[in-house]
Amino acid sequence: PFRRASRLANLGVSEILRIGARAGEMQRAGKPVIVLGAGEPDFDTPDTIKEAAIAAIRAGDTKYTALDGTPALKAAICAKFRRDNGLDFTPAEITVAAGAKQVIYNALMASLEPGDEVVIPTPFWTTYSAMVEIAGGIPVLVPCTGENGFRMTAEQLQAAISPKTRWLMLNSPSNPSGAAYRAADYRPLLDVLLDAPHVWLMSDEIYEHIVYDGFTFVTPVAIEPRIRSRCLIVNGVSKAYAMTGWRIGYGAGPASLIGAMAVVQSQSTSNPASISQAAAVEALNGPQDEVVARAADFKARRDFVVAALNAIEGIECRVPEGAFYTFASCAGLIGATTPDGKVIESDRDVCAYLLEAGLVATVPGAAFGLSPYFRISYATAMAELEEAMRRIAAACR
Ligand code: PLP
Repeated sequence: PFRRASRLANLGVSEILRIGARAGEMQRAGKPVIVLGAGEPDFDTPDTIKEAAIAAIRAGDTKYTALDGTPALKAAICAKFRRDNGLDFTPAEITVAAGAKQVIYNALMASLEPGDEVVIPTPFWTTYSAMVEIAGGIPVLVPCTGENGFRMTAEQLQAAISPKTRWLMLNSPSNPSGAAYRAADYRPLLDVLLDAPHVWLMSDEIYEHIVYDGFTFVTPVAIEPRIRSRCLIVNGVSKAYAMTGWRIGYGAGPASLIGAMAVVQSQSTSNPASISQAAAVEALNGPQDEVVARAADFKARRDFVVAALNAIEGIECRVPEGAFYTFASCAGLIGATTPDGKVIESDRDVCAYLLEAGLVATVPGAAFGLSPYFRISYATAMAELEEAMRRIAAACR
């Protein structure tokens, strides 16, 4: 019989994928389930980007490329950091991989020794802790609840750091909470890090362009240049340009770390797809107006969903600063009884009930390390969101 490696002991395929599969099953059985689970924009990749990919195919740009990014793409990424973040990086400080996901994986594989600790504020994108475990590290989860806007405090960070800490992983704006750190929120955390020179910072900025109400996105490296020598910025084109399927993410950090990440990539997947890299060059260098237009669309949906959720007894939702998720408390539903007599005991129960009885797929906070909450992705057409909110309200009544 097949014996699984022990490094997978506590790991399974993501709960989000499992819920998506169940929703698909129900749809095939004729039930009109609305899926608010997926973490991807519902709009199409802009035509200019598609054309760049088609041109690359026609030009024979279909061979192995430089291992961790073509010179053209690295140049476009350097220009992006100058334009958006006021940071100057050289190509040797840039890496390109098959999604931000692989950038994070490469960094953890390149840096962690068995037993090294990684501090992760919850709620977090589930993949973080799974990747730390695969790389032999120990995730140190720090609960950051709605009371503090799902943001970590300096006291919490200080208490979580030990001599074995290698990384702090931050994600602003956040999947799943939509919370974002202002410069003033970062400052005390950066002060703690300055006093703990053995801890590196991984800053996942993939939702950088999806912010609302005039929120000013800022990267910690721009606030505190002294952290630059031990910070990896993670970003990518998936969310900003609706390019989830193209698989291009990138990182910026010290050349020594980037070089070690290249070794991991070299001995596993090699370069990301040549055609996708050509498309990403166009995404980063081309017109940026669609990015702004989409953020405006998302804002209207966010406002609608937050208001609709807060109108439901038992649900409470703060207004997220960014990304395309709400992370609402369902504490007021715990202990309730469903029409067929089942007592709701957890956020997993809430989401199972909303799926089976309400025909709306959402994801329980437990999947992101913080209960009792549930996540809705509002990267969905307004008409569907309206129907979904009607159903959730009816199911909760
Ligand atoms: N980081 C966060 C917080 C995410 O939510 C995601 C995708 O869901 C990623 C990284 C990975 O994006 P990709 O691998 O598509 O670039």
